[in-house]
Amino acid sequence: MSSSAEEPVQHVRVAVVGSGFGGLGAAVRLREAGVTDFVVLERAGSVGGTWRDNSYPGCACDVPSHLYSFSFAPNPDWPRTFSGQPEIRAYLERIADRFRLRPHLRLHHEVLGARWDAGRTHWELDTSQGRYTAEVLVAAGGPLSDPVVPDLPGLDGFPGEVFHSSRWNHDYDLTGKRVAVVGTGASAIQIVPAIQPRVGKLVLLQRTPPWVMPRMDRDITAAERRLYRLLPVTQRALRTALWAVREGQTGMFTKRPALLRLAERLARRNLDAHIQDPALRARLTPDYRFGCKRVLLSTSYYPALAQPNVEVVASALKEVRGSTVVGADGSEHEVDAIVFGTGFHVTDMPIGERITGAAGRTLAEEWKDGMVALRGTTVSGFPNLLMVIGPNTGLGTSSMVLQIESQLNYLVDYLRRLDATGSAALDATPEAQRRWNEEVQRRMATTVWSTGGCNSWYLDANGTNTTLWPGTTARFRRETRTVDLAEYRLVSKQAPSAPAAADAPAAADARADA
Ligand SMILES: Cc1cc2nc3c(=O)[nH]c(=O)nc-3n(C[C@H](O)[C@H](O)[C@H](O)COP(=O)(O)OP(=O)(O)OC[C@H]3O[C@@H](n4cnc5c(N)ncnc54)[C@H](O)[C@@H]3O)c2cc1C
Repeated sequence: MSSSAEEPVQHVRVAVVGSGFGGLGAAVRLREAGVTDFVVLERAGSVGGTWRDNSYPGCACDVPSHLYSFSFAPNPDWPRTFSGQPEIRAYLERIADRFRLRPHLRLHHEVLGARWDAGRTHWELDTSQGRYTAEVLVAAGGPLSDPVVPDLPGLDGFPGEVFHSSRWNHDYDLTGKRVAVVGTGASAIQIVPAIQPRVGKLVLLQRTPPWVMPRMDRDITAAERRLYRLLPVTQRALRTALWAVREGQTGMFTKRPALLRLAERLARRNLDAHIQDPALRARLTPDYRFGCKRVLLSTSYYPALAQPNVEVVASALKEVRGSTVVGADGSEHEVDAIVFGTGFHVTDMPIGERITGAAGRTLAEEWKDGMVALRGTTVSGFPNLLMVIGPNTGLGTSSMVLQIESQLNYLVDYLRRLDATGSAALDATPEAQRRWNEEVQRRMATTVWSTGGCNSWYLDANGTNTTLWPGTTARFRRETRTVDLAEYRLVSKQAPSAPAAADAPAAADARADA
């Protein structure tokens, strides 16, 4: 329920939206920087983001846990090299306790709208449980938090069970059922082997086959865990090694895709080793270059597809007729349940429609030709808005937590600069933002994501890659270490009598010359 204008308004220095890795990490870094006047607004009833919402069978990270965790909170007790969702969720819950974040959490607070008030130089937020104003807004609503279920003819009339991978219905027993799994992305390839042994029949609707490499997953032994606890330096060394390997591989994806041929041969061998049927093998062989779409890791996906109760339909789902799913190839399959592994609103993130900048336009309107930001974090015309995992910050090969931590460095320096300059806000200049994005897109041109001959979720409706960072995480870390005031317009605090509408009257705003 939206709040009324008469409700009391709570003012905070910083409002953080979301409590996944991004929002919780922001909260930790804010406290560490001495900022305690902040809230974390979370629409759900608990923290964890991705790792709260995705509880499907088989859900696990695909970047090793020792790298897919905060640098400031190593977990010596990860049970597996690629830990499962329950462990990652529990880790994030522990972060909330250990760093005393609970008093800042406002659960069941969905941010319905955020509007920059240029007169008062603050953000006005409308949440499902009241109004807030904030000097700074940190948008950590997540790049993969709003599921996409395709709008298919006949889906409403399907008499069976339907759910998305990120909204798993644990009350529905799949045992013996005929189940259609739609999609072959990172979630679907974890779901398929997890449910195949207990379903009666599994129909996999595959628009495009992924490249799949074996996942070197294993239990982490008690002795190893003891070692990490007693000698934390060993765990740090392991993390560094995991990071360095991925950094070393980045150039193949971004500059020299031809070098990925060897990996492509290994992936093909992985397919050949598990799939004997030539027709099925042909259906599972990608027709685009390795790396163009996210490379998936699994040792159990192909063996599951080779089982007699699985049928791979090399076609998208076109429509539903009663209890029959119909592929674009015309094939028909009667099922009891449909599981959508069809991904998320990535290049059209819903929070974009809820954030309104200085000129009265929403982020979504601002981004109608494609998402852009300065250093993936700030957006011209949206003063004091910092995004976590904003445009072109995603990774194809390494841990998103590294990128998040880089952006949190930027956030902390941003607040320091605000204090140091005595300004009410910083607003990225259009020129700085344009320069940054031109450079990002120039580097994007040589990547396998642009040249590999696929159509991936990394690309927006115009075919522009607005999601991935075309470089190493070390480079992104350098680029976001400090805020360069020359890239910003300083917005002064307005005198109470000043006209409220002025977005940026030249007289009121001192152009940074630092
Ligand atoms: C199944 C799955 C597996 C993944 N595995 C990996 C992996 O192995 N390695 C990797 O690097 N990345 C992985 N990712 C990507 C993952 O999303 C990021 O690594 C990371 O978890 C993102 O954290 P976040 O805080 O930015 O977003 P999220 O974790 O999505 O958190 C966003 C939070 O914001 C809240 N929110 C959104 N809108 C609002 C609103 N309007 N008001 C209030 N609250 C709101 C949501 O409820 C959510 O809690 C995976 C993603 C998925 C879906």
